[in-house]
Amino acid sequence: MKVRRATTDVFLVEGVASNWVLVRDGHDLTLIDAGYPKDIEDVVASVEQIGHRIEDVRGVLITHAHIDHVGAIPALLRRHTVPTFAGERELPMLVGERHEQATTWDVVSRCWRPRVARWAVTIARAGAQTHVSVPETQALQSDSALDLPGAPRSVPCPGHTSGHTAYMLPDAGVVVTGDALITGHPIVARTGPQLLPAFFGHDSAQAFASLDALAELDVDTVLPGHGPIWRGSLRSAVDEARS
Ligand SMILES: [Zn+2]
Repeated sequence: MKVRRATTDVFLVEGVASNWVLVRDGHDLTLIDAGYPKDIEDVVASVEQIGHRIEDVRGVLITHAHIDHVGAIPALLRRHTVPTFAGERELPMLVGERHEQATTWDVVSRCWRPRVARWAVTIARAGAQTHVSVPETQALQSDSALDLPGAPRSVPCPGHTSGHTAYMLPDAGVVVTGDALITGHPIVARTGPQLLPAFFGHDSAQAFASLDALAELDVDTVLPGHGPIWRGSLRSAVDEARS
């Protein structure tokens, strides 16, 4: 786990195979996503590394219901009960009624590629096969600012999943893009702003179209679900992802 400072009060944490974000406002924190199930100790350690305790987390925002982003949330809630929020169309996946995730076969059938094989071993160790639900999650309301540290605003960007949501932190000039826009992934050689390989996503045409919502945001820092921090205009990030 590595904690990267994006701005004074916003941190991107790189877990074993996905990222999460900590947003600070005084004593309080917002957590956005939470890695794989076995990332729980790293989630706690990342909070401590920036000088806080897990009890300082006031709420958890979910970009989407995939195991690499919600995996550690149930264990976190057992230690410290806080509200969790996600896009309304993610809720059926968070109660386990519906799935929009690459299957084991999607991964195994690509394991002839060394990059995929190495990554598959890493995520299996991280608990990728676990079924996780977060049934208490509340649906995000419209696009008004949430009453959480950093005053995050939700930005719907469906495609990777039906209710995928990015979160804009207006004061910090940051957008947390989840898997709607990433900047690198262990299974691809390309670096820089990009979309995930299509087999991960639910609707790639919609994911491509959703980049418009991100391109309009007046921020200069991207914190993705996979890959490093990226700085520059969102318009140029989106143009690069589409190229
Ligand atoms: Zn992901």
